[in-house]
Amino acid sequence: QANSSMAPVAKQGGGAPHLVFIPSAGMGHLLPFSRFIGALASEGVFDISVVTALPTVSEAEAEQLAALFASFPAIRRIDFNLLPLDDATLAGTDPFLLRWESLRRSAHLLGPLIAGATPRASAIVTDVTLASQVIPIAKDELQLPCHILFISCATMLSFLAYFPTYLDETNTDHLAGDVHVPAIGHIPVNYPPQVLRNPDSLFTKQFITNGREITEADGILVNTFHALEPEALTALRDGKVVPGFPPVFAVGPLKSTTTGKEEAASAPIAWLGEQPARSVVYVAFGNRNAAALDQIREISAGLEASGCRFLWVVKTTVVDRDDTAELNDVLGDGFLARVHGRGLVTKEWVDQEAVLKHPAVGLYLSHCGWNSVTESAAYGVPMLAWPTLGDQRLISTVIRSGGFGLWVEHWSWDGGEDSLVRGAEIAEKVKEVMGDEAISAKAKEISQAAAKAVAEGGSSYRSMQEFLATLS
Ligand code: UDP
Ligand code: UDP
Repeated sequence: QANSSMAPVAKQGGGAPHLVFIPSAGMGHLLPFSRFIGALASEGVFDISVVTALPTVSEAEAEQLAALFASFPAIRRIDFNLLPLDDATLAGTDPFLLRWESLRRSAHLLGPLIAGATPRASAIVTDVTLASQVIPIAKDELQLPCHILFISCATMLSFLAYFPTYLDETNTDHLAGDVHVPAIGHIPVNYPPQVLRNPDSLFTKQFITNGREITEADGILVNTFHALEPEALTALRDGKVVPGFPPVFAVGPLKSTTTGKEEAASAPIAWLGEQPARSVVYVAFGNRNAAALDQIREISAGLEASGCRFLWVVKTTVVDRDDTAELNDVLGDGFLARVHGRGLVTKEWVDQEAVLKHPAVGLYLSHCGWNSVTESAAYGVPMLAWPTLGDQRLISTVIRSGGFGLWVEHWSWDGGEDSLVRGAEIAEKVKEVMGDEAISAKAKEISQAAAKAVAEGGSSYRSMQEFLATLS
């Protein structure tokens, strides 16, 4: 909904500021951009353009963009035609990472595109995955301020920002051991994205280049709030992680402002409406985590054995367009019949925000993507953390320190024989957290803190105003 935190700002020389957004690929990146853009657009006082590379990697992204432009017809779309990525060395690369690379390699085309925008752009807001390419274009070529909208937690931002210093000090080119981030603390080697152990991976190269350049940004907007990550935010702002770090604006938790996907969303929401308060375990592992078949079977056994009601979003492919599997084949014969009435399983996109907001939901068994965690925190839903990859373990440390969930640290998704998490253990932990009063009280507390942060005078409200003041 519209956020009253945004006082109209007049740009010097008259006219509303014109913000140009350059989002990256993957729903975990596009959704927070959409939410932030929607919040600004709801105010009706800014000119907004969104650089859009079509076709998107996933169907979910295509629908999200369509919903954004339909909800806010005044937003301008700047079409970004990517150069073909003919590079045999990239065969087999994750499709989203490949798109990041493709955006990066086409980034030099952005200068002329944005220079031609009317009214003249006043600032650029881009994603961290594009930072090292977009910041120099904004500053050197266009003489425009450039901000990053960081889509993960402040703890991950600290790690990203400090990582180049770690490499220089230890004289290495990859994650080679535990990392001690000043004022944040000791980060065990198995917490950051594990792909950083490989210096030759495309992700590692992008991550390091972006981490070095991010200090040149004019500001960094983070989808978090003070009460959720007080230490990390203070350390970053005090320049303790990296001296002279840009201003950090904690403006979360960001919420949806667009409408759309009602049809797909309605079945699970209607079903939740028939369930008792706080009785349902919501199970979902994000927009691009494909689970292995044997692990899916163990999850099904665990949910069945827990005796709890559940709503489970199953994904068997990285890109939604590729998913043609039949639920019955995936889950095994008879499962759906046995849990009929108390369990709903879907392969469709669900409106997760609406799910977490629903009073019937009592627990979120989650992969711990940052958007999911901020949504759970915002709506006071306790979490059972099962991080799968990337930043998700570092994110789980935020859940642990906030006390609003349980992270079973030895649960992994490595795929090896020993890494399979058995149904019996899943059932046990689900029941444990469902009955944990302390976790549930903490979850409620954090949701109240979230509401306070974005309300008038709250920490995120004030951060948003400070950011907007930089545009005038
Ligand atoms: N999401 C959703 N419905 C789905 C799957 C995902 O609404 O069926 C949303 C979810 O609410 C979150 C985002 O997609 O806002 C996923 O981002 P997150 O950072 O949690 O994880 P990722 O998918 O990037 O791993
Ligand atoms: N990231 C980053 N710099 C980069 C690329 C990624 O800081 O150059 C961050 C990104 O914001 C996220 C994590 O690294 O926090 C990547 O996580 P993952 O591999 O799970 O991919 P994603 O879910 O973001 O698509």
